[in-house]
Amino acid sequence: MPHSNIVLPLGLQGHRGARGLFPENTIEGFRAALALGIDAIELDVGLTADGVAVVSHDLGLNPDIVRDATGVWLPGPGSALRDLTWEALQTFDVGRLRPGAAYTAQFPLQQPCDGARIPTLAEVLRLDAAMRFTIELKTDPRFPDRTASPADLADATLAVVDAAGAASRIDLESFDWRGPRHVRRTRADIRLAWLTRPETVRDAHLWWGGPVPSDFGGSVPRAVAAEGGAIWAPEYAALTQDEIAEAHDLGLLVLPWTVNETAAMRRLIGWGVDGIITDRPDLYPR
Ligand code: MG
Repeated sequence: MPHSNIVLPLGLQGHRGARGLFPENTIEGFRAALALGIDAIELDVGLTADGVAVVSHDLGLNPDIVRDATGVWLPGPGSALRDLTWEALQTFDVGRLRPGAAYTAQFPLQQPCDGARIPTLAEVLRLDAAMRFTIELKTDPRFPDRTASPADLADATLAVVDAAGAASRIDLESFDWRGPRHVRRTRADIRLAWLTRPETVRDAHLWWGGPVPSDFGGSVPRAVAAEGGAIWAPEYAALTQDEIAEAHDLGLLVLPWTVNETAAMRRLIGWGVDGIITDRPDLYPR
């Protein structure tokens, strides 16, 4: 790859495309991210009312991102994706962050792309026949009525992946471990990543759907390994070198997110991580 001589097994992964630079989870943003020389695209999926797998981080329309058909920002959180048909969803523009929003202030370099729509997963998988994708299943055990069930979302996602002939170049991940667990039981050919962040570890009884860290001596990598996980995808800020070593001893690959500074990328690479998810692929050390 032209971007670096540092080779990581899971590579440099663009978060929602490259959220720091281009509108997240859009065809336009993914194209631009690919041009930066990333190894994989990380994206999020949910299901519409009519069962279409679409690429969106949010369970519903996000007023920091979404404008209606007249170009007006939503006055507040909008409908859940599962309550909107694919056709209705196409009327919304997601190509520009709302001026003045706190969310917008996090991404001062993001270039707008007016007219961008929430894409289908099928469209995105067609962008590049060789590209790898890390696909996050967006269900939330706190809001079971806002999405399809974890199993139904996983099955619908994999139906699209299979139709694209892409099963060998995707990894599936979720904070809600019920989805990956369902896939582990039904699809041995799909590689799984188990997402964690401090809040989901603290409320593991909810997010992990049964096991809790104390079942594993407080070790998150051991909990992932017990699920038969291939990849542990932790929030990076609290990640330690010892935890990475422990994960490797358990046979796991470690894929931290969302690492947006070169110094942090260097530190993690020095500690032996197997990939990096970032909003800023342009900051990857060369
Ligand atoms: Mg994600």
